Amino acid sequence: MNVDRITEKLNILADAAKYDVSCASSGSDRKNKDKGLGNASNGICHSYTEDGRCVSLLKILLTNHCIFDCAYCVSRKNNDIKRAAFTVQEVVDLTINFYRRNYIEGLFLSSGIFKDADYTMERLVRVAKKLRTEHNFNGYIHLKSIPGASEELMREAGLYADRLSVNLEMPTEAGLKLLAPDKNRQDMIDPMQFLKKEIIQNTEEKKLFKKAPMFAPAGQSTQVIVGATPENDQQVLQSANYFYKNFNLKRVYYSGYVPVLADQRLPALNTAVPLVRENRLYQADWLMRFYGFHVNEIVNNQNPLLDLDIDPKLSWAIRNMQVFPIDINKADLQLILRVPGIGLLSAQKIMAARKFAKLGWEQLKKIGVAVNRARYFITCNSNEFERRDLTGQNIKQFIMAQSQSKYNKNTQIQLNLF
Ligand code: SF4
Repeated sequence: MNVDRITEKLNILADAAKYDVSCASSGSDRKNKDKGLGNASNGICHSYTEDGRCVSLLKILLTNHCIFDCAYCVSRKNNDIKRAAFTVQEVVDLTINFYRRNYIEGLFLSSGIFKDADYTMERLVRVAKKLRTEHNFNGYIHLKSIPGASEELMREAGLYADRLSVNLEMPTEAGLKLLAPDKNRQDMIDPMQFLKKEIIQNTEEKKLFKKAPMFAPAGQSTQVIVGATPENDQQVLQSANYFYKNFNLKRVYYSGYVPVLADQRLPALNTAVPLVRENRLYQADWLMRFYGFHVNEIVNNQNPLLDLDIDPKLSWAIRNMQVFPIDINKADLQLILRVPGIGLLSAQKIMAARKFAKLGWEQLKKIGVAVNRARYFITCNSNEFERRDLTGQNIKQFIMAQSQSKYNKNTQIQLNLF
């Protein structure tokens, strides 16, 4: 093996892969078998950088050669950059070597389009197949599905990968047309539809035959680039909501566009999307998936942009002060989940604890409630804070004065693995 050449390729292809953020590995429980390598159980790949990105996967492109010319992408064919391509065997060897040295817990493999979709997808599938069948590798594998690849290849990919993802890239079809006119939204929707169908079918088969082979046990996800086109948060979240509902996605990843290319269709080079916007989108996404919020409650025609100063749950509460205060000892779970400062776990603990005693501030603190926020929106078994003359704006100011949000620094630091 020519170590210098491999190192050079690694530098080029890991750097090119850093713009894809869809690499968290939750949701798979592939077990180690036959004394194989690795174990992609829940929790194995949950190392994140400070900005929330997963770092314990070997995250590379198979190649940064590409026949397409998407304006937002460093690998676009008309960008004058160094190009490289791994062979299938090189990616397999790197994964095994890095795994044995404890550098990584799995592989995230994406690619530019070599010649056509099938030609590229076939190589991605071969990497996963070799790892599973020749090296008995049971670590986590996330493969990018190449839009336009045949159903046979997609089906094979699902047999070896834990997760598959098709990137939507732009939040709307109009955005895609503007920046990637060669691409077609339907080419992204078709594989998502196919994966959804196969995943559902596999779940049914597993119920009948325990030994039926797994198919993408960690499901499918997608990535949306935010800020390369002018879509507002309402459009971004409505699009995410549509894809969650119609394609059973596990996750939508929001990637703030980092201007690295000069193009009159793109934002200027020194106008990176503030990291706080990405963070607010993830918080809003969480509210939709776990807290029972409808997307229109978070963003709508009156409020198309997420408030960057405060999180979306607090923002909703301040706009809906008529709902509060609620009695923490009587309200139902759905309402308690809407109180700023009360998370999913705390809400469940409250429901359990109040069966035995009426809860006051001390008990709520012990449960894990952020009382400095929640106290403006609830009553409990205490008179300690009974000031109810504050407006939503007063509350916002008080809370902002108290908390020094770590997201106030709008620095955009791209993850660099190597
Ligand atoms: S197809 Fe993918 S790799 Fe190729 S230019 Fe477009 S976004 Fe980049």
